Amino acid sequence: MKSDITQIVVPFHVAATGEEEVQAVADVVRSGWLTMGPRTQEFEQSFAAAVGSRHAIAVSSCTAALHLALEAIGIAAGDEVLVPTTTFTATAEAVCYLGARPVLCDVQRDALNLDPADCARRITPRTRAIIPVHFAGVPCDMEEVRELAWSYALPLIEDAAHAFPSSYRGSPIGAIGDITAFSFYATKTLTTGEGGMVTTNNDQYADRMRLMRLHGIGRDAWKRYSSEGSWYYEVREAGFKYNLTDMQSAIGLVQLSRAQELLSARERIARQYDEAFGTLNSLEIPTRYQDRDSAHHLYVLRLNLEYLSINRDQFIAELKQQGISASVHFIPLHLHPFYQERFSYKGGDFPVAETEYGRCLSLPLFPTMTPDQVAHVIDSVIRIAQENA
Ligand SMILES: *Cc1c(COP(=O)(O)O)cnc(C)c1O
Repeated sequence: MKSDITQIVVPFHVAATGEEEVQAVADVVRSGWLTMGPRTQEFEQSFAAAVGSRHAIAVSSCTAALHLALEAIGIAAGDEVLVPTTTFTATAEAVCYLGARPVLCDVQRDALNLDPADCARRITPRTRAIIPVHFAGVPCDMEEVRELAWSYALPLIEDAAHAFPSSYRGSPIGAIGDITAFSFYATKTLTTGEGGMVTTNNDQYADRMRLMRLHGIGRDAWKRYSSEGSWYYEVREAGFKYNLTDMQSAIGLVQLSRAQELLSARERIARQYDEAFGTLNSLEIPTRYQDRDSAHHLYVLRLNLEYLSINRDQFIAELKQQGISASVHFIPLHLHPFYQERFSYKGGDFPVAETEYGRCLSLPLFPTMTPDQVAHVIDSVIRIAQENA
């Protein structure tokens, strides 16, 4: 008798970086130019081409991108910025950096993207911008969001940390709103370890963000140590240190060239999950939209708790016992101590976000998942659902 079956372990995420990325970084290290330089410029140009935006500015994180974007549109102390409560803290934290107030909004039940109707109710004379988040990679209904923004003359800054490459009615995310912020964090769909990109079609916003990205030193400040540069520079603002290094950009360029391959791999796994879970009444699979292409950053499964004897936390614990790491996206911001203490939010403020939070879990979804790992997740989820029906 077999006493001990080798457990298949499925981590929540493994970055899809390989020998090509290793080689690209090694080339940069050998070149002797390590920080922002020619590779970063190339990465910016390629990324702008990929999303169809006029400008792409490489930065150290999506958080930095959001900060630069809000600064560029002139957000200041006392202003209000609309942010969905179902997001990562970075979205609202960047608003706080400028002394402004993140005004949280509820989300729509289907995609967990910001609810324009709820947003509209929270607009005041101090409202200065809206930051929609393309949750899990599924674009917001940009027609509704844009209509809202236009009717109140509010700039749109998109948090596209999950949304490369995603598109809405054929337009890539990155070329729709006034400014779009992307993340290249280790778990995101395109990674440079840490990193981000901010895109815009507006020349003034682009100039301002380029200036503020690197110490407020005039354009092309990074060239001052190259043969083309000169020793002379002028500081025009108290800028930030938000630049991306050439080592990171080298990884980014390789990842960008593989974007379709990586997307297809995630898409295939998501479809397998959909097919496996779609027929169980205790499980709700993510909604798909005819007019939107998702980057498939996260696979968010929702539990129909009325058909289960266990709750979401217990479901995740059972998966853990099977060697599978699941996660939860996101603990709504209004449930965190900081947002409660600073802005007086409290449990119950955003009923849709809270209800969905209580029944959602994110399953492992990454391009290098093996067929065995996918099958193990599928078998385990179905078995846990059936055993606890
Ligand atoms: C990851 C994430 C961010 C922050 O990205 P960083 O590159 O780590 O700064 C912002 N918003 C959302 C929705 C995210 O998931």
